[in-house]
Amino acid sequence: MASNCGDMTIPELKKELEKFGAKKSGRKWELVERLEAYRRNAHCAKTDVYGPEFMMMTPDPQLYKDLHGDKTFPGCTEAEISTFLSKFNKTTDKKGRDMYNDGFIQYVRVTFHDSNWFVRSSVKASMMKSVKYVVDIMIGKDRSVIESQCECAAGMGPDAHCKHVCAVLFSCADFVKHGTYKTELTCTHRGYKLFIVLSPIKEAL
Ligand SMILES: [Zn+2]
Repeated sequence: MASNCGDMTIPELKKELEKFGAKKSGRKWELVERLEAYRRNAHCAKTDVYGPEFMMMTPDPQLYKDLHGDKTFPGCTEAEISTFLSKFNKTTDKKGRDMYNDGFIQYVRVTFHDSNWFVRSSVKASMMKSVKYVVDIMIGKDRSVIESQCECAAGMGPDAHCKHVCAVLFSCADFVKHGTYKTELTCTHRGYKLFIVLSPIKEAL
């Protein structure tokens, strides 16, 4: 059987998902994403401790402000992301970094509550951009990642480390470094500027 989820047939995907006790419904791309997520998180035993219903306690959504409007947010650093990922035997998360760089983040909002920072973000799914996952991350004043959850199949709290959570962490690290972060809008804008620069050359030819 193919070990690459993308090469598997639908019956093969369903059979593998069954081993994880996962949902088997949906389109093929959903089954592929779900299985990849379950395989990545297979070594994470915390879900057994908390049960599938575990949800992070998050503050009132109205308390959150866009990251750009709150310069006091300490954010996260590349070093803290590495420390966080090392708990799951991962050194880096290339998919999460690519998602951040390619503008999959729709927004990042933050609020300070009960001596910790809470980050809420919406991240587009990689294979079906109309699907969006809400990500919640609790970050300490020392910038350490305390808890995280994501709406995707792999993102059960409190230790979610799927590519969506990682993409949001990279946005926080970028914000600390540059005082801003990339969203789908800023990425589109960059492409537009490139077009403006190139068009006079085309006309001259
Ligand atoms: Zn996720």
